[in-house]
Amino acid sequence: MCTEGCAGEFTPATTHYRCPRCAGLLEVRHELAALPEAAVWREIVRTRTFGGEWPHLSGVWRLHEWVMPWVSRAQVVSLGEGGSPLVPAGRYGAAIGARSLWIKQCGSGHTGSFKDLGMTVLVSAVKQMIAEGREVRAMVCASTGDTSAALAAYGAAAGIPVIVVLPAGKISSAQLLQPRAHGAMVVALETDFDGCMRVVERLAREPALYLANSLNCLRIEGQKTIAWEIVAQRGGVVPAWVLVPGGNLGNVSALAKGFLELLALGWIDRLPRLVCCQAERAAPLYEAFVRAKAAGRALRSEDYRPVQAGTTAASAIQIGAPVSLPKAVAGLNACGGVVAAASEAALAAAAARADQAGFYVCPQTAAALACAEQLVADRTIGAEEEVVVISTAHGLKFGEFKAQVAAENQAVSVSSEPEAAVAAIHRLLDAKR
Ligand SMILES: *Cc1c(COP(=O)(O)O)cnc(C)c1O
Ligand SMILES: [Zn+2]
Repeated sequence: MCTEGCAGEFTPATTHYRCPRCAGLLEVRHELAALPEAAVWREIVRTRTFGGEWPHLSGVWRLHEWVMPWVSRAQVVSLGEGGSPLVPAGRYGAAIGARSLWIKQCGSGHTGSFKDLGMTVLVSAVKQMIAEGREVRAMVCASTGDTSAALAAYGAAAGIPVIVVLPAGKISSAQLLQPRAHGAMVVALETDFDGCMRVVERLAREPALYLANSLNCLRIEGQKTIAWEIVAQRGGVVPAWVLVPGGNLGNVSALAKGFLELLALGWIDRLPRLVCCQAERAAPLYEAFVRAKAAGRALRSEDYRPVQAGTTAASAIQIGAPVSLPKAVAGLNACGGVVAAASEAALAAAAARADQAGFYVCPQTAAALACAEQLVADRTIGAEEEVVVISTAHGLKFGEFKAQVAAENQAVSVSSEPEAAVAAIHRLLDAKR
């Protein structure tokens, strides 16, 4: 369904990435009335979660009817995504003055980022299309990070070839390893990310190639399950605030869609307020939000101007022209939205504080935590209010950032003679006091 006014409707099997009539963004519309009522549905999901049949043990596919009923169970490609822990922020929350702060660990999944939630849906949909007789020779995306890792993993699980298009020379070996390990075709172009995107959009016009970038609205359907999980894990309580890092703005749109549909279905009785958290150096939505505020009215897509994204440690949100901007604006306005931005120093400090309270946050999550700190400090968020921060990736994927955060805490070399080692360690403990 077109989201930009022309009201065009298409079935999932027709491969459109944008509206063929007006080039607007598309989104999946569900027959919500066809779903069971809230109490019945809750019981179905509970049964599936504890001892259900594969793939209902997946956090995404236990919600199959809400996510993508058009895909039959036999075509689902799942690697056990979703069902990530919701963890009280404990000593970190206390340190920043938020008494009910929770972290939703969406980066603890299979490929180490929340991208799995959307990719399981997209790849399953492609497998369904193939079963219905469509020819798909390969799925293709432009990405240097988490999207290519997820597409390569799910493509390998499905036995569908994957092409990953990357800018030559701008890729670290760590970013290359996951797609290479999964056997994806990794193509390096002498250009930047936007140049790669142009080639990929052209490739996707080839009838046998399928585009997996976040322009593809099927991924949103998997990502919206984060909203359900938060509410279910809190026993039905809707948090006052949900904060999420935003780059291309697909995930904040997915959260808004999730909460709005849960409200329409009667599963929840109110909405949380959403906060989209950007890095100051790549903050086109934040700048639009500031313009709207100065004009004394709600955020509009017209407030937005693309920016040249500066280099930020939060590389997965280093995007100056977000594809899903109109959807994010609509979603934020429906959910009392706020947009915030974090400086490099603030996000590094937030990461250090969180890690020293036992977390191991990626730089994107650190940006969201820094925004939480700001909003608690200026009392936008009350100290007693329930807050959930979405952690988007595992810290282990961002070694260089971690080396910077932990720079002050170097390993100490001590003697290997046991008595001398014990004496040295006592001296170190005393010095810490
Ligand atoms: C993709 C990604 C984001 C940004 O999500 P959008 O949907 O593009 O806003 C944030 N953090 C991590 C770790 C990501 O991989
Ligand atoms: Zn349209």
